[in-house]
Parts: sequence; structure tokens; C-alpha cells
Amino acid sequence: MKKKIIIITTGGTIAMKQNSPFGVVPNDEFTAGLLSFEQLKDLATIDVHEYANIPSPYMTPEKMLELAKFVDSEIERYDGAVITHGTDTLEETAYFLNLNLKTEKPVVFTAAMRSSSELGLDGPRNIVGAVRAAACEESKGKGVLVVMDDAINSARDVVKTDSGRTDSFFTPLYGLLGTIDPDKITYYRKALFHEKIQTDTIEPNIDLIKCVSGMDSRFLDTAIRQNTRAIVLEAFGRGNIPPAIIPAVRRAIAAGILVVVVSRTYTGRVLPEYGYEGGGLFLQKLGVILGSDLKGPKMRLRLMLLFGKYKEPQIVRDYLEKNT
Ligand code: ASP
Repeated sequence: MKKKIIIITTGGTIAMKQNSPFGVVPNDEFTAGLLSFEQLKDLATIDVHEYANIPSPYMTPEKMLELAKFVDSEIERYDGAVITHGTDTLEETAYFLNLNLKTEKPVVFTAAMRSSSELGLDGPRNIVGAVRAAACEESKGKGVLVVMDDAINSARDVVKTDSGRTDSFFTPLYGLLGTIDPDKITYYRKALFHEKIQTDTIEPNIDLIKCVSGMDSRFLDTAIRQNTRAIVLEAFGRGNIPPAIIPAVRRAIAAGILVVVVSRTYTGRVLPEYGYEGGGLFLQKLGVILGSDLKGPKMRLRLMLLFGKYKEPQIVRDYLEKNT
């Protein structure tokens, strides 16, 4: 029997067209176009729901939470869901849903790097791939998936690696979960992180600050003044920061703000390795949490969910120390 799949559209380039002289902008033909898309008809019984039609830089954590609740309620009547999204923040929304969704049914994000006015447009092929992945038995229980350019990635680790190429979405270091060929879908590995943070509220007041050489403490001090609940510091290498911001890190900790260090490198974990002032070991002794291999934007969302669920910094700290 054919599987029942819901396609939930949220906007992005996949739903945009060139409209001279205004550039590439949203248009309202995409959702209707999906309903008459012949290549989908044999793959599954499809329903299409236009949830939003926004460029993905307009996406917010609050909207991600609403989308997660919507997916959990809708998917009860389906075997799987495909969510179309802009590529710019896709990895954030997909990761947020990966943490927050209750369902174990396949939920697959897809998008397009090229609008429907461009030669070699990738949207239709990506949608077909995503529907096939959502309808595939083996996709169950693998967490939220991202399908682009015939590749299946895990939402936790996928990165938009290039601003223009159609093979932009990739999982650095760990690689793809699987591939989509014309004859079949092949999974090569499992994503072993199955973290779930189920909550109906988030704490939006979490900041992400990137370390650069010679920086001063202006951004940290602003965050402290705004009573942020936590600061994610994208530090150098193994988790080391410039000495000029150490006093502000101390002030943040004294004010009860959680400071979580991740690395600004492309891949790899942070470690309590370097003992010099500003090094990861020094920071850990100061009370900073070392956040493993998760990238800054994803750690920020994770903290929003953790504070939404547990409220108290000490409980969030204990959780992170057990689950990094
Ligand atoms: N700016 C677009 C968006 O994220 C880019 C895309 O979808 O590729 O909405």
C-alpha cells in the first residue's frame, strides 16, 4: 500500500522566482504546483499544507517551536512528513525539530539552492528525494533528516557548507547517513545521538558570541546587561578564548549566566586541554561548560530548549555536564 506523506511548505528559495527588477522573491504558486507534480504521484499519497511562505532568515526559534507542535499533531494521520524550507537557516530548524519532536516517524527537510527561474533548478529533484526518504521504512527512528542533492544527512550534524552550490548540504567529518539513487535508498550509518528535549516553552534570551583575535568584551558585557540566561562562546580550536574577555566571562558567571564554550573550527570537540589563561582547562576551572562538538548556532537552540524545560541554570548545567 502507498504511504501517506504530508508536505509542509514554509518558504525559501524552493518557493521563489526571479521577478525583475526585484530579484528572487517569494511567489504563491509553489504549493499548488506540488499538488500537480506528476513525479510525486506514484511515490506516495500526498497532502500538501502551506504552513508559511517566508525566506528562512525570517525564521525564529519561536516559529520553530510552533512548527514542531504542528508537525507532531499532523503526523499522527501520516506515515511521514516532508518540510520544505529556505536553505539559510534550514540546519537550525531541522536540529530544533530533531530535539523537540515526539514522533519517531520520518521527518525530512528539503530545500533548493536555485529558484525555479534558474537553469538546472534543484527543487523538484530534492522534493522527490525527500518524499522517497519519508516513505522509506528504514528512515524511521533516525531522527530528523535533511535530503538535498540525493544525499541524506542527520539534522544534528548537517551544515550548509557553500552559499551557492547544489551540493552545499553536507556533514563534515562524519559524512552522509545515506544516499538516494534512482533504484533505491541506501543507509550507510546511523546517527547515534538521540537527544530529545520535549518542552512547550523555550527561553529566547540566549546569546551566541564568536571569538576573534584581539576582541574586547563589548558583546559579552551587552549580553550580561540584557540579563541573558546563557552565552554560547564560539571559541578558538579546543575551546580557548582571548585574554581580554576573561574578566567579562568572570562577570557573566558571577551574575549566574551559564557560559558554554564550543569551537569555531569546522569540526572537532572542545576539551579541557590548555591550562594558560583563557585556555579550555582554565575556563573549565572558572565554571565555564565545555560543549563538545556541537556548533554554535545549534548549541544556542539546544540551550533555549533546555532553559525552556528546566528553567534553573543549575539543572541545565547538570544536564549539560552529563550529556555533552
Ligand atoms: N535566502 C533563501 C532562504 O533561506 C535561501 C534558500 O532558500 O536557498 O530562504
